[in-house]
Amino acid sequence: MLGYLKEAGFRISAKPEECDILIVNTCAFIDSAREEAVSTIREMAEYKEKGKCRRLVVTGCLPQLYRHRLLHSFPQIDYILGVDHLDTIVELCRSDSLSPTNHFAFSSNPTYLYDHLTPRVISTPPYSAYVKIAEGCSHACAFCLVPALRGRYRSRELDSVVAEAEGLVARGVREVNLVAQDTTFFGFDRGVKGALVKLLKRLVRISDLKWIRLLYCHPDRVDDQLLAVIAEEEKVCSYLDIPLQHVDKKLLRLMGRKGDRASFTALITRIRKVVPDIALRTTFMVGFPSDSEDKFRLLCDFCREIEFDHLGVFTYCREKGTRAYRYGDPIPQKVKEDFKRRLMELQALISSNKNTSRVGNMREVLI
Ligand code: SF4
Repeated sequence: MLGYLKEAGFRISAKPEECDILIVNTCAFIDSAREEAVSTIREMAEYKEKGKCRRLVVTGCLPQLYRHRLLHSFPQIDYILGVDHLDTIVELCRSDSLSPTNHFAFSSNPTYLYDHLTPRVISTPPYSAYVKIAEGCSHACAFCLVPALRGRYRSRELDSVVAEAEGLVARGVREVNLVAQDTTFFGFDRGVKGALVKLLKRLVRISDLKWIRLLYCHPDRVDDQLLAVIAEEEKVCSYLDIPLQHVDKKLLRLMGRKGDRASFTALITRIRKVVPDIALRTTFMVGFPSDSEDKFRLLCDFCREIEFDHLGVFTYCREKGTRAYRYGDPIPQKVKEDFKRRLMELQALISSNKNTSRVGNMREVLI
């Protein structure tokens, strides 16, 4: 949206007090994200009442869920834009002929996919950029609202991703981080097998690109070809981010996910065998219905055994519209928080030992 607006001649500012038009881009996949979004809308609505602002636009995932409710609660909102048709942001901001107010640009089945011709404003430091290789998700994790919010998985054209990376590198970017809800699913929706490996092999040929990093891989799809390209290609970082969610088999099935402690241990052993210096990152969810002290201990044992380099923990948040909603929310918040604290304390110790072991090493960094 920033790219479209800049190309159309708008001046972009992060200071709401000096803006004629305020855009609140929202996240809505868990409760706390929605609360943050609503509180920002409330804050920005005040500028519409008392400040310079003459137009308030709310975009992103929150309107995908609650557009009528939002308009009812905040009559200051002029326009709503969901996660589709992002280019219409220019029309919403430019045209005075779109009244009456509360104009929607909304689709309940999003199909938007940007390409290399889409203008972009890089909001990360100038040496690094995220490149989204796909939109949406076709998995069916019972706790997750993302497929409902953002539609089915749709991969970008491989050539388009490469062209975008070339353009970014020409602008000074040296590190490209590939993202999607599941990067390892890239190409499958188009019937192209091994598309991610093909993409990495094309990207390493961009001469001034130094690092290519893969985020959000799915444990079911980290295959030998992918590991081989990480091992063989110097520019592909020895780094994998694989959200596992849990290791207890029954709990994972209830979550609508495959795997268990044994299969994840085998996966990580296989990864480390092919790429011995790999840095592994994962995320877990604690407090999902049927979680227990025993299951939590199993998870801690696994983390002690594997020693991840980076680890994040989320507490389960029951979401209306997900399959898991019908399971209720039997684990008290206090217990969820306790599980989270204990796992993060365990990881702090592991991270500290890993960092200590690196003292005296020479590493190349990007600054
Ligand atoms: S793979 Fe990730 S985004 Fe997709 S449904 Fe599962 S948790 Fe949600």
